[in-house]
Formats: sequence, structure tokens, C-alpha cells
Amino acid sequence: MSGILGVTLRGMEALPVEVEVEITGGLFGIQIVGMADLAIRESRERVRAALRSLGLNLKGRISVNLAPADIPKEGALLDLPIALCMMKAMGAIKDFPRALYMGELALDGRLRRVRGAVPAAFLARQMNIPLYVPAENAEEVALVKGTEAYCADNLSELVMMLTGQSAPRKLPPAYVPDMPITAEPDFADIKGQIQAKRAAEIAAAGHHNLLLVGSPGSGKTMIARAMAGILPPLTDDELVETLLVRSTLGLETKAGRERPFRVVHFTASTVSVCGGGANLRPGEVSLAHRGVLFLDEYTEFKRDLTESLRAPIEDGEITVSRATGTVKYPARVLLVLAANPCACGYLGDPVVPCKCSASDIERYRRKLSGPIMDRIDLQITVPRLKPEELLKFESSGKPPESSASIRERVIRARKIQVERWKDHGFVCNAELPEKIVQKFLVLDDDLRSFLASMAMKLNLSGRGLSRVLKVARTIADLSGEENIGKPHLMEAMIYRQSYGK
Ligand SMILES: [Zn+2]
Repeated sequence: MSGILGVTLRGMEALPVEVEVEITGGLFGIQIVGMADLAIRESRERVRAALRSLGLNLKGRISVNLAPADIPKEGALLDLPIALCMMKAMGAIKDFPRALYMGELALDGRLRRVRGAVPAAFLARQMNIPLYVPAENAEEVALVKGTEAYCADNLSELVMMLTGQSAPRKLPPAYVPDMPITAEPDFADIKGQIQAKRAAEIAAAGHHNLLLVGSPGSGKTMIARAMAGILPPLTDDELVETLLVRSTLGLETKAGRERPFRVVHFTASTVSVCGGGANLRPGEVSLAHRGVLFLDEYTEFKRDLTESLRAPIEDGEITVSRATGTVKYPARVLLVLAANPCACGYLGDPVVPCKCSASDIERYRRKLSGPIMDRIDLQITVPRLKPEELLKFESSGKPPESSASIRERVIRARKIQVERWKDHGFVCNAELPEKIVQKFLVLDDDLRSFLASMAMKLNLSGRGLSRVLKVARTIADLSGEENIGKPHLMEAMIYRQSYGK
């Protein structure tokens, strides 16, 4: 092979690009062919300046060919292989090891951080060749096990390494410690609300979607935010999945096991939440993959945004389409919604009277229904506490349970699920498709007829029933029970309230 290998991105996937350079006599000029975007065409100037910083002046007519020609190539990550290939064509360097090279060049030859280093690490591993990246990308690349990777701060250092004049900077495989998670607020800071906290614990344990309904000041937003502190740590595979999304966006990667917790405001655009745009970037729902996507004031969200969340909530991934192509991004999120009980906010409040008319309430309830609400496993009311109740909790002397202690139970329950479903490829109960629920979440005759009669009373659909079963399974896992029992089913039913029937 005469060229040098770089990479380009298609969604979260890195594709190899072969860079070839030909220099002929004549007037100076650099031409780049092979479906390059604006950033790559601008790389002519960056590469030229970076080479000048090494004392190399480009002369003659220079053609840069990027192959295969039918794949669109974007971004500045091809600067490095283009520069190396030019050095080879000029005779400044004889040869390079067969490897993947990626990096953006500054005018003074520094190597700048690029997005997509983690997908590139996967590609290098698959092709069984080394990867060379800017030092700023080293931390995230080191998290991809089984990749042989090297880094450099600038072009001159890299050339010294490649020509054997200095020792290669090989990246050691990163070790990810399971650090304690300190999320604010802590569940110990939230008084009362035993039932809502319990629902949050079940949601975290089984990755079940959760709706919290309560008046302003009831603490529903606090409970939602406190969930960040009770989620189980990311597994190795999940960590890499979240890393892929962040790397594709060029975001800093944290080498921790903390699950993502993304808050979306109701003014957010559909593209920013679901992904897309000219470059087919992943959105918030993918950044929240394997973690929580929190929509506060859910009834304020526009219908088209919530509608577009339906597919990712159901499938765990989102398809983003544009004229330039279609890509899939992971989007397995734990959806947490918070909403007021009515338009004025005080329906059912113990102190402030509700000002809504019956038709106002009816209209508001319709906002709390629809395809997303059908996919919420746990629905719970968060009542605002009366001042005397708050005082009672303060004087009882026993502080509420801390997030760390709840998290211990969640971790135990999640381990049971991972173990149980490992042969089926699932990590938690909420992920189970209908056919797995029917086959594996079986009840004895007594329980089945009990469930059937409850389903009649609650007017549950088939889908609703299957959600009750999955939640009951998680409740049983939290108490370490092998079989789903009547108390588990009864508790699961509490969380199917009247919203979104
Ligand atoms: Zn009201």
C-alpha cells in the first residue's frame, strides 16, 4: 500500500480513509479530491503551516487523494495523515508503520484534540493495527481495551517516534475505579416522601421509566435529581458505549463509572434532543444513553418533541436521517418526567386550593397521556407536605436513608438482573421485550388469576400488564426473592395510576 491510513466518521462508526499524495512540478497549488468537506479543504493551510514549522516548504503541484471516493469525509481529523503523506512524497521521511493516524494540526505543528478517537480505536482494534492520536485524546483511547495506541503532542514529536529517533509514547490501558458517587441532592436531604423515594429506587434498580406528579414545592424535582446518586455504576461495556457517544461529539470523557444524567428544558429543539443536523450528530437522548433523561415540567414540552422520543424509548436507539445518509445512535435511557397535577398546580394540595375548572383539568390530563405515557412503568404522586408534617419528620430524630445506602440495594438488584438475563443480552428488567416477559416472567395459577382480576379493575392493556410484571420482577429482585409474589405484584400496581391510560 502506497498511502497512509486516516479515518472519517459516519455516525459513531469510524471508517478507514487512504490518503495519497502526488507532487509534480509546476506552479504551487494543493488540490484535495475525494468528497472532502470544508474543514478538510481548509486543512491545506494548516498542513502547509505545520510543515513549515518543521522547516519543510511545500513546492509544486500537489494532489491529495482521499479514498474510497464515494464516502463523504468530514472534519479536521485527516490533517495528520495528509501531512505525513506529504512528507513522504517530499522524501522527508522514508516510510511509516502501517497504522491509523488521526489528528488536527495547529499552525505551529501542535496536534489538537479531535472528535471520534474512540470509534477510531475500535476500528484500529478490528483492523489489528496501531492507532496514533493527539495526546489530548489519549485518556479516552486508553479506555478501549485491546487497542495498541500511541500519542504525541505535536508533529515533530510524532515524526521522531516514527523514525525511531525517540521512544514511542505507548498508551497504557486505563483502569477505571469504581469511585463513590456524590450527587446532589442526597436522598437524606429529602424529608418524608417515602413512596416517591421507593418508586425512584425501583426505577433505578430496573431502569424503569418514572413519572413524578406533584404541586410546586412538593420536592418532585429534587427526587428526580437525587436519582443520579442511586444509579448502579456503569459496567465496562456500558462505559464504552457512553464513551462512544461523547467521543463522537468531541466532548471531554470522564474515566468514571457514573451514569449520565441529562436534564432537558422544554424550550429545547427536537434536533438538540434527538440528534441530527447537518453532520448527523447525536442528541441529548443519546448522551443520556445508559443513564437518565430528565424532562422537568413535562406538560410544557411541545408535542412533536415528545412524539419523536417515542421510537428511542421503545427501541433503545434512534435513527437520524438526512440527505447525506442515515445513522443509528444508542438511546437506552431511563426517562424521568416531572409534572404538576393540573394547570394551576394545586389539584389535591393539602393547603392551596386548585383554581382549575373541571374542563381545565380534563384538558390538562390529556397532555399527560399519549404514546410516551404508555411507556412509563412507574407513576407516582408526590404530595406536598403540610408544615406540621415537615416538623414531625424533623423531630422524629431519625434521618432519612442516604443515597449511598439506597444505592447498595440498587446495585445488588441490578447484579441479579445482569446474571439472570446475560444469555439473552439484557442488563435490566425494563429492557425485556414482550416475548421474553411472556416466556420467563411466569406466575403460578393463583397469582395469574389475581393479576387478571386486578387488570380488569385497573383497566390495564396488555402492554400495561407486561409493565406491571417487569416492575414486580424488579421489586422481587430488590428484596432478593427468586419468584414474583403477591406483595410484589400489589406494589407494582400502585405505580400504575390514572395518568396516560
Ligand atoms: Zn388546578
